[in-house]
Amino acid sequence: MKRYITTPIYYVNDVPHIGHAYTTIIADTAARYFRLRGFETFFLTGTDEHGQKIEEAAKKRGKSPKEYADEISAKFRNLWDEFEISYDKFIRTTDPEHIKGVQKAFEIMYNKGDIYKGTYEGHYCISCESFFPESQLIDNEFCPDCGKPTSIVKEESYFFRLSKYQDKLLELYKNEEKFVLPKSKKNEVIRFVEGGLQDLSITRTSFNWGVPLPESINDPKHVMYVWLDALLNYVTALGYGTDEKLMHFWPADYHLVGKDILRFHAVYWPAFLMSLDLAIPKHIATHGWWTRNGEKMSKSKGNVVDPKAVADAYGLENFRYFLLREVPFGQDGDFSQKALIDRINNDLGNDLGNLLNRIIGMSGKYFDFQVDSKDVEKFHAQELAEMQEIIDGLDALAEEMKWHRYLEELWKILTIANKAIDRYTPWAKMKEGKEDEAMALIALVANILAKAALLLHPVMPKTTQTIADALGFSIDKESFKKFVENRELLKSFTIKKVPPLFPKIEEPLMQEQKSQTKKEPTQPKSQDNVITIDDFFKVKIKVGTVVEAEEVPKSKKLLKLQIDLGEERPRQIVAGIKEFYTPSELVGEQVCVVANLKPAKLMGILSEGMILAARDENGLTLVGPKTRKKEGTPVQ
Ligand SMILES: [Zn+2]
Repeated sequence: MKRYITTPIYYVNDVPHIGHAYTTIIADTAARYFRLRGFETFFLTGTDEHGQKIEEAAKKRGKSPKEYADEISAKFRNLWDEFEISYDKFIRTTDPEHIKGVQKAFEIMYNKGDIYKGTYEGHYCISCESFFPESQLIDNEFCPDCGKPTSIVKEESYFFRLSKYQDKLLELYKNEEKFVLPKSKKNEVIRFVEGGLQDLSITRTSFNWGVPLPESINDPKHVMYVWLDALLNYVTALGYGTDEKLMHFWPADYHLVGKDILRFHAVYWPAFLMSLDLAIPKHIATHGWWTRNGEKMSKSKGNVVDPKAVADAYGLENFRYFLLREVPFGQDGDFSQKALIDRINNDLGNDLGNLLNRIIGMSGKYFDFQVDSKDVEKFHAQELAEMQEIIDGLDALAEEMKWHRYLEELWKILTIANKAIDRYTPWAKMKEGKEDEAMALIALVANILAKAALLLHPVMPKTTQTIADALGFSIDKESFKKFVENRELLKSFTIKKVPPLFPKIEEPLMQEQKSQTKKEPTQPKSQDNVITIDDFFKVKIKVGTVVEAEEVPKSKKLLKLQIDLGEERPRQIVAGIKEFYTPSELVGEQVCVVANLKPAKLMGILSEGMILAARDENGLTLVGPKTRKKEGTPVQ
């Protein structure tokens, strides 16, 4: 009995945000759940590190792609370690074993005739590293996924015969009812495939940062398309193509994915696997996106939820509970501090924490913390039966990743316990001298708490261990088997006092971003950097002549210039151009100057403006009028 669970490998062009944390926490919960139930479990996460975007991002920062990938990959890994994510392997697509496995897979598909060479011409989005058919473009130009402008690219490419697998894929969706979870998402996939599949371009020649083709094909111009490389991580992590000792975990039981990458996992990936004669994953479990206070999160709005900040402020396990409980799996969810605080104060504090406190208080007051379950079945057969019915339904929910429903149901057994206390009033039983009934009630509640702790353990590993400690047992596979699967009750035990688990939160613990007055543009994102003509007119650019230039002592980059803008006296401007110009060659040159920039000091020297320049890999050139103009002439 095994379970293999994966997160997507995260692309290293972004630091971890709440979406990454959400996927990873669902996968971690599932892995912990299956381990507790005695499955041999393998939980994989990692980072996706190739592609043009990474090559470019690294270049911008003056780093090699590998250096840059190392840095961001470490951020993911460090966060998961801080979050105590119980992954068994953290794969990186720059790992040598992965690269070997990918080349092996390419070779197999090529030799089989599923890969052929051709040319590709199409609208290409650099940002998404994808070609798009003209029919999908917005305004015939912009990328349908990210809104940035596309460009026409024609290149030699190897293609995967995706079209060949169209019928087999449709058959798969028909036969495997739960291949895509939740089931509602499957229809989108079916519609896409029924619309007709075109062969997939799977190599690029326009950049270098990717897995080279296998030597046997001998075509060094090409690197592999990042998605082919990335998807194969799920098998190379098990040693596919190298040391295959973990391949018994294949096929994956759950690939956790965000809805934006469902198509890659539910269409391309099974087609690649069919070509490789490998088994198809059991479930592609697809979750939605998060908004914040009802608004889309974006870097430009500065409202991206930093999972570390939330966990630090509210507690990691409370955050985990919130993420899983708040949103029906597959749907979009909204993060707000209010919703989080409500979950902590109500579900966790009132329903769970208070129940434990009540039982500690009553057992201490009436029985010196000694509890015995011997009369529970005699007095509370009905409560036990109700509880059991709920518990019996939980596994099916877990198997479909419906953690919100799982938790909702689990909370019903806490309600049974809370109601039982109110109905049987142990304090009254004590007054009536019915100590055995009071004891049975306290033991009933303690047993419900014990089972709840075991079943909640995958979501809140440490908190539930504290509850178990208070009830005199510990959480592991054996206790899970005994108290959940075999329905046993704790026998006689001593209850231990523990401090309140969920202190009430009165007000938000994190500073909220000031609400931005700027409205989110409704146009595609390509419009993000657009300014109005009024914005442009705020910038005063004038033609000036350099009248003096000298080096700034001890600075490798700076020159100090006096520039005549037709004003009373020349402006002093400090510019970082020393690597490209000597002072003497600048005197007499005309340049364009941003004249209304707020003055600033550079290395202690006042600078009263900025000169314009163009820079590329061949160096830097100052920008000025093509023929001489009077000093102070505005640039329009
Ligand atoms: Zn795009």
